[in-house]
Amino acid sequence: MSLHLTVHRGTRQIGGSCIEIVHPDGTRLILDAGRPLDAPEGATGLLPVSLDLSQPATVLISHPHQDHYGLLHELPADWPVWTGAASARLIAITSEIGHAPLSRPLRTWSSRPGPIRLGPFTVTPLLTDHSAFDAYMLLVEGADRRVLYTGDFRRHGRKGRLVDALMKRPPRNVDVLVCEGTNLGTDKPVMSEHVLEDDFVKLFERTAGRVFASWSGQNVDRTVTLYNAAKRTGRTLVLDLYTADVLDRITEGTRVPRAGFPNLKVVITAGLRGWYAKQGREDFIVRMARHGVSAHDVPDDAVVMLRRSLMHDYEKAGLAPTKADAFNYSMWRGYLAAPYHAEPLLWCKSAGAEIAYLHSSGHAAPEDLRAFAAAIAAKAVVPVHGENWDMQTSGFGPVQRLDDAEIWTLP
Ligand SMILES: [Zn+2]
Ligand SMILES: [Zn+2]
Repeated sequence: MSLHLTVHRGTRQIGGSCIEIVHPDGTRLILDAGRPLDAPEGATGLLPVSLDLSQPATVLISHPHQDHYGLLHELPADWPVWTGAASARLIAITSEIGHAPLSRPLRTWSSRPGPIRLGPFTVTPLLTDHSAFDAYMLLVEGADRRVLYTGDFRRHGRKGRLVDALMKRPPRNVDVLVCEGTNLGTDKPVMSEHVLEDDFVKLFERTAGRVFASWSGQNVDRTVTLYNAAKRTGRTLVLDLYTADVLDRITEGTRVPRAGFPNLKVVITAGLRGWYAKQGREDFIVRMARHGVSAHDVPDDAVVMLRRSLMHDYEKAGLAPTKADAFNYSMWRGYLAAPYHAEPLLWCKSAGAEIAYLHSSGHAAPEDLRAFAAAIAAKAVVPVHGENWDMQTSGFGPVQRLDDAEIWTLP
């Protein structure tokens, strides 16, 4: 009697992750319920058709990226959903701002969780390094088998030491490693946040005016990197209300910068202020205004967060790029195909500002993926969350290549 494992989606694609593990007694765990990255906006009915919704199951969300949790609202309302405590708060923020507040409760574990008993399963979330804050690998034990699911991870971010420590003392006798492979067969930039910080310092030093920057407000590692570089060059990092809200809700008790820190200001823009007021968050606006600056008063040497949704308010207040300024795009360059990402860059470019692309991937480098698989030394490696696995399986040990929806019985 063994476990059954099904990758409902993800054996040949990035995103839309959904993996099921079934115990011989019929108890089911679903690891992630992600939205496919290429799903059109507003599309519904996106759950994999192979996922049986007629029987109960427990869901575990590895981290707060939509390609891992974005279909939660399509799951039966009585299925319990677990995730990290900060992940739950980040999911709530994204759902609110996306005008689709999540109506189901999320059960949470703390950032250093112990094993969680779920019927015949024991699940141990292992905090890991990823561009999402509060990301976990999941060790699932049941029926005398052990499955380690990596979720999304990297080794070169500010929590890379956690991955190194796991590789040094891996869980013993892992039967199956379900491994992500985002960066296999790509040449995405992979450098530590410390190296990136030095590159930002150089950009900030050679720029006479302001530095506009686009990055994900939920990529807390990147906010820290930009903040450190701003501090080292005597500049002020100016965050929008949304990013200030993210930090405010998840970084209490940590050393992560937030409103109130030196060299950090929150720009109070009409659009976002109105949105937060509509949410009944006047307290938050008042609190942020204490560390706030109007778009009109943003200092000439600031490092300023820029997104398309801020451009209008900035322009109206006279905060616009000039040729003395620079713009840095700090996300995956593939996103620039969308106007939402391209427009801020073009706005700065047409003003004559220097355009830079300082960025580091949120996912592990191919050599780190292989080193991780070697350290875990599982009896089988199941590839997920990658587009190039078929050409890249060498160096991963015994690979069990599955198709989406294929039911595999662990040996
Ligand atoms: Zn992902
Ligand atoms: Zn992710």
